[in-house]
Amino acid sequence: MAYEVPDLPYAFDALEPYIDAQTMEIHHDKHHAAYAANLSKAVAGTELDGKCAVELIADLSAVPENIRNAVRNHGGGYVNHNLFWEIMGPNGGGEPSGDLSEAIATTFGSFDAFREQFSNAAATRFGSGWAWLGLRDDGALCVCSSPNQDSPLMTGVAECSARPILTLDVWEHAYYLKYQNRRPDYIAAWWNLINWEAVAAKYEAALKG
Ligand code: MN
Repeated sequence: MAYEVPDLPYAFDALEPYIDAQTMEIHHDKHHAAYAANLSKAVAGTELDGKCAVELIADLSAVPENIRNAVRNHGGGYVNHNLFWEIMGPNGGGEPSGDLSEAIATTFGSFDAFREQFSNAAATRFGSGWAWLGLRDDGALCVCSSPNQDSPLMTGVAECSARPILTLDVWEHAYYLKYQNRRPDYIAAWWNLINWEAVAAKYEAALKG
């Protein structure tokens, strides 16, 4: 069974002017598609073929050693981008409301303090990787970053452990056409794209385990 890249829930140019249409098209149709194809190729013919990709990367110790690295990299790339598209949208930005708003205030002190911590995690991730807001097993929110296509879901492998509810891709392919070396400008612009309703739904789902 091949892993499929879901259609974007909006047009390639819907995130203009913050993320340009050409970047979105290449990122979704080429980069994300390649992760999906390479994950499919890695597990083809094994007992893991067709297994839920989130479950695959959450338990890499169950993946045969000869394909573990491929599943880590391409499975991570496949799952991470699925989340990334979902938590953005046109008419995004602002601040969350409800339970998520309260949890952010409890953990970080204020939304602005959270925003600063997350932006800093994204800006200081050396090389390619991701910044995350996740729910830890102890029920607290946490901000972290990961290298390459690692995810906080990768128990025992990732630098941080949590169920992701918000993420930012800081690979150069995510911003180079428009922002070149100005990663901090891309990060600042991205806050205008966050679909907080989608993030709140991820938070509620993570609370239920
Ligand atoms: Mn990417």
